[in-house]
Amino acid sequence: MDFNYLADILFPNITEVPEDIEKKYPPRTLPEGAKVTRFAPSPTGFVHFGGLFPSMVAERLAHQSGGVFYLRIEDTDAKREVEGAAQGLIRTLSTYGINFDEGAVLDENGNISDRGAYGPYKQSMRGPIYQVYAKQLVREGKAYPCFTTEEELDELQQINKKEAVKNTNWQEEAEKRKEEMLARRNFTIEEVKEHLESGHPFVVRILANGDPEKKFRFTDLVKGNMEIPENDEDFVLLKSDGIPTYHFAHAVDDHLMGTTHVIRGEEWLPSLAKHVQLFSYLGFKLPKYMHIAQIMRLDENGNKKKLSKRDMGANMDDYTKMGYSPEAVCEYVMTLLNSNYEEWHAQNPDKLYTDFPFNIKKMSVSGCLFDFNKLNDVSKNIVSRMSADEVYEKVTCWARKFDEDFAAELIADADYAKKILSIGRGGKKPRKDIATWADVKPYMGFFYDRFFAMEDEYTNGFDKEDIVKTLTAFLETYDYSDEMNVWFDKIKKIADDMGFASDMKAYKASPESFKGNVADISSFIRVAVTGKQNAPDLYTVMQILGEQRTRARIEKAIRSL
Ligand code: GLU
Repeated sequence: MDFNYLADILFPNITEVPEDIEKKYPPRTLPEGAKVTRFAPSPTGFVHFGGLFPSMVAERLAHQSGGVFYLRIEDTDAKREVEGAAQGLIRTLSTYGINFDEGAVLDENGNISDRGAYGPYKQSMRGPIYQVYAKQLVREGKAYPCFTTEEELDELQQINKKEAVKNTNWQEEAEKRKEEMLARRNFTIEEVKEHLESGHPFVVRILANGDPEKKFRFTDLVKGNMEIPENDEDFVLLKSDGIPTYHFAHAVDDHLMGTTHVIRGEEWLPSLAKHVQLFSYLGFKLPKYMHIAQIMRLDENGNKKKLSKRDMGANMDDYTKMGYSPEAVCEYVMTLLNSNYEEWHAQNPDKLYTDFPFNIKKMSVSGCLFDFNKLNDVSKNIVSRMSADEVYEKVTCWARKFDEDFAAELIADADYAKKILSIGRGGKKPRKDIATWADVKPYMGFFYDRFFAMEDEYTNGFDKEDIVKTLTAFLETYDYSDEMNVWFDKIKKIADDMGFASDMKAYKASPESFKGNVADISSFIRVAVTGKQNAPDLYTVMQILGEQRTRARIEKAIRSL
């Protein structure tokens, strides 16, 4: 068969040859060892937590090595595309410190445009480029047209899916498929011409030369060495609308854009044999691959499950709503990605996760487990190291969107709020009460009369009368200007007067000689003033609340007892 002729009648408008394209994409000039990586999302919805994973790895590896990290929008499936998803994606990633050196970017009007010399970075803008390479493969007898209508293709896909789920008689099916495949390969130029003249659509398929009985060796940088059966499936390269499949676009784009490391989800591992074949057919150097394990979660019964789209925590925007700071989420992702991150962080508590020498060898080969408790621990640590001003800014910014009443109070008196937020901050062992901005109101709301509520009961087992007596006695001697030790001596005195031990040693030696101890006396006052059993240091709380508010709260407590 005259393949040149075949290529010409299939692609009459394509006059360029691969060499012409290659000239427009010269090899990058980068220092030795610099990695070129990309994030290549399909704009079909929000950024999934599982998508943050590969993109963070790609970002770290590129920037750690002085390389390039770029964004390519893989919008070859128009049916699944969601309007505005690409823009949302860029914004969300940037919130998480994932910024691209090159690729699709948002212009000042919020539209997608290109930055860099290796574009276009949106696959829908690259149609003719794919056709040039497809034409070349046809010319070389490595690809062929297949006149199948879209309906037939859909049907085929459905059958394939069903087969995958419930393959009862796979041997028979495999034979049938092989026959089908061989039949497709058998055509004459005249037949092709007839189809084209009648305007029939066609797809371009690869002419697979692999033997699945044979395996080739492959090293994935995360998964390690493996043996993979060769590909013998004549998979589609160009769909009938001329748009490439993921496989074909992956090979052409990652080659032209100079990707050195392809970092993607492990769901692509089964397609690897196809990609290896394609790169070799096209004469491209195979990039290095890293297939990242899926994120798992524990279900109600303690079984591991894939973190699905609908799970809380799957959508990156959930974290904004819940009030997690992006640094916390990123650091948490790091702990999941690199097993030695926590050790490093313990030794370098003041450094940022971006200072961490990310190591491919320390990556988890199987699925990482998503765990909110762990995320909260990481986050509490991060927030505990922030200054009161920083926390104030961040919580106010969050509250403006998600808790307007709280925001109003924070804004009305910034100094007051900052004083509250300064409690227990700055020392060697800072308080760790706040994991999310949503935790701030429950933590400090009692400082505002509007949010104050009796959340906890007075400790069980004490006479109401003793509680009232304590509160009354406290009010009698309370002086706002007292130093802390004077203030505390007064509380001790109340304890002694009421038959409670002021000295904890004495109490421990013979608890039965006392009604209780000074900690109980303090807890009566604490509950009256804060509405809680657990609150920050009571003296400091009263100093910030001020004399009037403190007195009013205690008086109200006495009345209600
Ligand atoms: N568009 C593909 C996806 O979203 C990209 C996979 C890759 O990184 O190659 O799954």
